[in-house]
Amino acid sequence: MPGFAEAVAGVERWLLPPACLLCDGPVPARECDALVCGLCRSRWEPVAGPCCDRCGQPAFGDLECRLCAGWPSGLVRVRSAVWLRGTARAAVHRLKYEGWWRVAGPLAESMRRLEPLTGRVCLIPVPLGARRLRARGYNQSERLAAALGDLVGRPVRADLLARPRETRTQTALTPEARQANVAGAFQARAAAGLACVLVDDVFTTGATLAEAGAALSRAGAASVEAITFARAEPPVTLA
Ligand SMILES: [Zn+2]
Ligand SMILES: [Zn+2]
Repeated sequence: MPGFAEAVAGVERWLLPPACLLCDGPVPARECDALVCGLCRSRWEPVAGPCCDRCGQPAFGDLECRLCAGWPSGLVRVRSAVWLRGTARAAVHRLKYEGWWRVAGPLAESMRRLEPLTGRVCLIPVPLGARRLRARGYNQSERLAAALGDLVGRPVRADLLARPRETRTQTALTPEARQANVAGAFQARAAAGLACVLVDDVFTTGATLAEAGAALSRAGAASVEAITFARAEPPVTLA
């Protein structure tokens, strides 16, 4: 509903002077709906350089990747736009914990050239459990997928994947514990023949994406890839 979104943006301009959501600096008039100023966006650091074909983690030499070796099959490729540092971390925080779902727009903009988006794919937001969805009021991954779908002209299918089992927050868990924590958390509806790209805000160890990808694969998806806005720095144990 662009009409509604424009009305909301209009009310915001009237109530609040155009200031960047991340640095409070002025936002130039020509980009007054941007929420995040150009300077803050220019400080997002792209995940670049040689990386593991599958999980997208920066790779050094021919060493076997320790991050994705234990993933269940299904998920074949993951790519992230920027490192979870500085103003990128602040943007994720606004999106996830402070109710600023419209910041999904600039985040999606930085994801639009990620390799998995080149095919005729459908976008599948990683679902939240019911309790967390009630507490937050929206699923941040769904907002990201919607913004991205508009940008790249691909359909969003939020109906294919469900998360019937609530899982503990992953923040304090080791990579092994994360994998056990999300095992069996997702259920997928018939996805026969679909080329799926999972969309999430942050990649940490990939345990959640791998589990969601395995569920889609069991439901008949032709391929499953994933993209995230940010990628957490590898923990010391994976370095
Ligand atoms: Zn700024
Ligand atoms: Zn890997």
